[in-house]
Amino acid sequence: MNNLNRLRAIDSIANIVNPAPAPAAPVEKIDAIFAADVFNIKAMKSYMPKESCRKLLSTIQQGEPLNPEIAGDVAKAMKEWALERGATHFTHWFQPLTGSTAEKHDAFLDFEYTLGGEKAIMSFSEKNLIVGEPDASSFPSGGLRSTFEARGYTAWDPTSPAFIKRHSNGATLCIPTAFCSYTGEALDKKTPLLRSMQALSISTKRMMKCFGIADKKVKITLGAEQEYFLIDKHFYLQRPDLLQTGRTVFGAPPAKHQQLEDHYFGSIKMRILDFMTEVEKELWTLGIPAKTRHNEVAPAQFELAPLFEDANLACDHNMLIMEVLRQVAERHGLVCLLHEKPFAGVNGSGKHNNWSISYGGRNLLSPGDAPAQNAIFLTVLCAIIEAVDTHADLLRASVAGAGNDHRLGANEAPPAVISIYLGDQLSAIIDEIETGKSKLKHKSASMKIGVDTLPPLPRDTTDRNRTSPFAFTGNKFEFRAPGSSQSCSGPITVLNTIAAEAFDHMSDELEKLNKKNFNAGLQKLLRSVIKAHKRVIFNGDGYTDEWLAEAARRGLPNARSTMESIRSLTEAENVKLFEKYAVLNKRELESRFEVSLEDYHRRIRIEGEISAEIAETMILPIVQDELAKALRMLADLKTGKTKIGEFSVRSKLDSVGKLCDQLERDIKYLHSSLSREHEYIIDAMQKLRLTVDSLEKIIPNDLWPLPKYREMLFIY
Ligand code: ADP
Ligand code: MG
Repeated sequence: MNNLNRLRAIDSIANIVNPAPAPAAPVEKIDAIFAADVFNIKAMKSYMPKESCRKLLSTIQQGEPLNPEIAGDVAKAMKEWALERGATHFTHWFQPLTGSTAEKHDAFLDFEYTLGGEKAIMSFSEKNLIVGEPDASSFPSGGLRSTFEARGYTAWDPTSPAFIKRHSNGATLCIPTAFCSYTGEALDKKTPLLRSMQALSISTKRMMKCFGIADKKVKITLGAEQEYFLIDKHFYLQRPDLLQTGRTVFGAPPAKHQQLEDHYFGSIKMRILDFMTEVEKELWTLGIPAKTRHNEVAPAQFELAPLFEDANLACDHNMLIMEVLRQVAERHGLVCLLHEKPFAGVNGSGKHNNWSISYGGRNLLSPGDAPAQNAIFLTVLCAIIEAVDTHADLLRASVAGAGNDHRLGANEAPPAVISIYLGDQLSAIIDEIETGKSKLKHKSASMKIGVDTLPPLPRDTTDRNRTSPFAFTGNKFEFRAPGSSQSCSGPITVLNTIAAEAFDHMSDELEKLNKKNFNAGLQKLLRSVIKAHKRVIFNGDGYTDEWLAEAARRGLPNARSTMESIRSLTEAENVKLFEKYAVLNKRELESRFEVSLEDYHRRIRIEGEISAEIAETMILPIVQDELAKALRMLADLKTGKTKIGEFSVRSKLDSVGKLCDQLERDIKYLHSSLSREHEYIIDAMQKLRLTVDSLEKIIPNDLWPLPKYREMLFIY
């Protein structure tokens, strides 16, 4: 038996030579390559007739429906643009409920029949641009499909520009699309997002009208920070668990992991910098504004953050960021792990969703310096407090998943209890509005909404403790519960919808007021909202057990697992909310519940099966060998104990065998339902892991078949 692969991998990695730094000459300027592969406004202007271009731009900017008369011109321009950039194929690019992206390529090829016979031509019609008809039967639909037909429709989303994906010997034109069933029910993640953006846009305009502000463009903004791990491919290929599930189901804690806190913001290794630079160049070419890169808390963990953009575009871009990270990693002999918890015992990976709303270019979550601006700021803030408290269950459900279950509430990740961090300054102001008493030193009377200005709000540094799942960070909220592999669409759809409802609540009340009693009425309204919902505000350390106890006393929900949290998707009042805002109807919600449930069970089953297989086929044979050797030595020596100890190995050997049997039995009984069979599998896996991990600590190092944590996390 050859168990030395692991050690040979280390030699191979040791032979990787870090390239010397590039010469101190300008490389490529970012602005020269930025969006080079995007059919953006600049491209439209140079490839389209003026009048059609103007109409298309107003479709995009004003959110008007696409004028069918110009579709032909758009298709023609897009084709010409794409062909000049070497594209041979086009595809509708969409986001099914699997949580990833999907594409089916068609060549720009057709026949033209002439008298001389058929002739190959490059073709791309307006129909090719506007709709596609992929067979939907192999995508999860959670029952939406069966009652209708298998056919799904993809429809062009002109608000997200087409782009070109390159590979080594060609390129493909990608057209962002929504994906719906024959009856128009959403089979994807983009459609509800777009609907929720529209809902929040309408509610924002209504509320701003109460403040006497004219109709302006609402922009919902999102900046999604992406955390990820990189490990060397040599190790990855020797870990069937990583290959199959994206996380390690075994692995003893190494002596050193993240306790020295020496990785976060540490100097970035040359090999990793080369990787990051290539990622960024690709992203910039795709018009994705990659901005920040750094080492994260856990060893081998990193982060990439783009500048914020319109939420729909930012969601699409995040999907592309994940794809580019994976692909570029492969080219560098690395593997990018996007799972929420690839390694037990160290920091997991999240995707902080920074979210805000701007109105006519002004950020509504930016405290301004005029009384009127602050009245709006405080109203928006209180509405969001109301929304988050009322619908904490939905926010929690929007980040549910087998991967995130390992992360929420563990190292460096917020708990599953949804609370809001406001910081001391803003909390004092909120207190003041509620009680009418000022705690602020510089003022004697209490603050009058719409009359006083806010005291300057320094950006609180404690928001960096990351213990809050939903933190106000100076001019935006940062939703920190989403997992690293998840699409931003789910959480942002929920946020938009619950904010729309809370804004409407504000408008319902504000519309009853007149100019004279407006400020007093607003003050009263905000006071009542704060009174009703302040329980969701928590500025302390969210990692502590005291907080969990306190949260329970406050009556805040704590859905610890996917199974506990996804039930809320189909609860009557939630269905009512989503239907009211035409974001998701009952059947669409039920389908999402079904898909989450099924996805969860499939993942647990795969994890259970791979755990048993690794234990039986990779660990047990070695342990048996070792035991036999120990017994022979004992017989020979008839004295003392061998190094590994006969007794401890024998008992562990027995328990590995038994636990594998148990696990396999449990897997047989797993069904995709709300019952609790999955808990037995999780439990058996955990016990098996403990035993195997303890064996890892006593079996001779050169025999252990799986790359160890201390190798994967540190040798790259
Ligand atoms: P951090 O200290 O958390 O890294 P940053 O200021 O760097 O904070 O912002 C993190 C993310 O938040 C970035 O993607 C940034 O573009 C985004 N962001 C900043 N302002 C807004 C906003 N108004 N709306 C949405 N996202 C924003
Ligand atoms: Mg941040």
